[in-house]
Amino acid sequence: MKHELPKLPFQKNALEPYISAETIEYHYGRHHKGYIEKLNQLIQGTEFADLSLEKIVMRSNGAIFNNASQAWNHTFYWNSLAPLVVSEEERAPQGELKVAIERDFGSFEEFANLFKNAAAGVFGSGWAWLVQDKEGYLSIKTTGNADNPMRVGQIPLLTCDVWEHAYYIDYRNERPKYL
Ligand code: MN
Repeated sequence: MKHELPKLPFQKNALEPYISAETIEYHYGRHHKGYIEKLNQLIQGTEFADLSLEKIVMRSNGAIFNNASQAWNHTFYWNSLAPLVVSEEERAPQGELKVAIERDFGSFEEFANLFKNAAAGVFGSGWAWLVQDKEGYLSIKTTGNADNPMRVGQIPLLTCDVWEHAYYIDYRNERPKYL
């Protein structure tokens, strides 16, 4: 099965002024695309050749895992972001998610601060996540390199990419400004 680069859920300039079209060109058009191309090469003729991306993330290791998980994580990241044409009300958590965030973090503002601090604290390349455990409780976690919380049975709800390639063009080394 050949994996495809999914369409971005917004225009390349839709996140400006926070994330530039140039960053999206490289991050989506080169990095994300690159992980998918490399994955397609690596799985040829292996036991992973006909598996879904999620199954490869759950079952593989080494270079196949790294490229599969980066492919999955980036698609999830694009879908974790909302352009400014969406109103603040529509971007805010609603319904069951709003209730769970307030239950487990106190308030959305408190969650947002904890999430940003966790993301800022990732040493080197990685990801910050909002995850749900098997009992339905929410927590914030970080992973290094390509790793994904699904590997330890947690359900990802939101992610932020803190690899330097996610912000270097717009913010150079200032990750907290990007966050
Ligand atoms: Mn990235």
